[in-house]
Amino acid sequence: LPEVAFVGRSNVGKSSLINKLVNRKGLARTSKTPGRTQLINFFKINDAFILVDLPGYGFARVPGEVKEKWGKMIEGYLKHREPLKGVALLLDCRHTPTAQDRQMYQWLLHYGVPAVVVATKIDKLSNNQWAKQQSVIKKALPLAPEHKLIPFSAETGRGKEEVLAVLEGWVHSE
Ligand code: GDP
Repeated sequence: LPEVAFVGRSNVGKSSLINKLVNRKGLARTSKTPGRTQLINFFKINDAFILVDLPGYGFARVPGEVKEKWGKMIEGYLKHREPLKGVALLLDCRHTPTAQDRQMYQWLLHYGVPAVVVATKIDKLSNNQWAKQQSVIKKALPLAPEHKLIPFSAETGRGKEEVLAVLEGWVHSE
């Protein structure tokens, strides 16, 4: 089965987004403790594709060598993964992308993995704030013209259809 993967910093809202997309509460565990998902989780969706939940990176209290291991695991996954059809990179809409966010994005570009960038927790910004923050994110990555930046909220459901449409495009592109 084709796979689509989700990556992002710990606490970015990845579990909440996955739960919203697959419409089943408690499927991917949400937690207020950052860095809880440390393994790659696979969810089969409608016998149509596999949703891959990659471990969150950037947990401040984790030692450098563990961080490096995560990086290696994620890069290894991206590099040699025939069924991987695309990756959604999650960024908190309120924050400037970190060095690790930018590295993740560069890997996706480098390995030619189809990608989309999702700005999570968009309910926390006004339209005006988002207009400004959007430019900050685009400049910082920097976002390539072929990639979408989709504002998303697990609270309101904003952006859900747009994200699903991107995933479906990847899954059906053969
Ligand atoms: P993960 O570590 O990336 O899986 O992040 P979680 O999904 O566990 O979310 C981390 C925290 O952010 C939790 O307290 C969530 O309730 C909160 N959160 C996640 N998504 C949203 C959102 O769209 N809006 C708001 N306001 N809070 C969110």
